[in-house]
Amino acid sequence: MSKTGYYTHRDCRKHEMGPGHPECPARLDAIEDRLLVSGVADALEHREAPLASLADIELAHDRMHMAALRGLSDMLIEEEDAGGSPLIQLDTDTAMNRYTWTAALRAAGAALEATDAVVAGELENAFCGVRPPGHHATRSRAMGFCFFNNVAVGAAHALERHGLERVAVVDFDVHHGNGTQDIFWSDKDLFYGSTHQMPLFPGTGDLSETGVGNIWNAPLRAGDAGEAFREAFTSRILGPLHNFGPDLIVISAGFDAHKHDPLGGLRLVEADFMWATEAIGKAAERHCQGRIVSMLEGGYDLDALAKSVAVHVRTLMDLGS
Ligand SMILES: [Zn+2]
Repeated sequence: MSKTGYYTHRDCRKHEMGPGHPECPARLDAIEDRLLVSGVADALEHREAPLASLADIELAHDRMHMAALRGLSDMLIEEEDAGGSPLIQLDTDTAMNRYTWTAALRAAGAALEATDAVVAGELENAFCGVRPPGHHATRSRAMGFCFFNNVAVGAAHALERHGLERVAVVDFDVHHGNGTQDIFWSDKDLFYGSTHQMPLFPGTGDLSETGVGNIWNAPLRAGDAGEAFREAFTSRILGPLHNFGPDLIVISAGFDAHKHDPLGGLRLVEADFMWATEAIGKAAERHCQGRIVSMLEGGYDLDALAKSVAVHVRTLMDLGS
């Protein structure tokens, strides 16, 4: 039986972006309840997400970006303590409260420590049930509910600190990971493959966006279901992924392409997420001893999110066993 890690931290529940915001702490509660009820939780190796070091975040982000977020966080805490607002709005969708800075460091820290454990062979693979998500954060900007690009921080860490030669990120969130694409754009040691709905926020992800031959976008149309998803994933992502031959695969695991999700217009079901996880698992077994680090991104219908994560994590556990 292989070992699958589950990384999270209570600090990830303290980050909130205002009443009614879909990217809310209840997402993590729903996931963990479901993992418990389904019995999946018992077989997982539970670990606390550490705080990422600024030196590691800097592998994927400008120093100014970190300084700006930290400065805003300090200012917010000071103003709130003096009776001011508990939130600072960075854009129409993205806000910080006094816990956001720490939660964002925990989310990136989960990616780092999961990468360490998987590369060391201590865990077969890992899922990080953390928030805030990351794939919209560019090298220099927070946006779309994201502050630090967790998958990019983990991938850069694997290259720089572990000496891996090639790391792939596969992203099946309904939104395009513009931030990951931005950070990976001119680095041929990094691969980014994404299925996503177009047109939809953030507007990037066209077939013509190819970086240095390392970016593989597979846009789908609103209303597309499992068949179109599997076809695009197979032809546009799996083939190039096998050619790339990764030493580690990181998943941007967003579940907002589910048919019940309020933010997306695709019509995937749990079986499609299982299929994608198995397909990624086969690639990982062939190229990198099954090494996979999966990071939670979107997914906003709590029931669909929880069921989809349970299926995804169960499939990760079954890989290689
Ligand atoms: Zn999304």
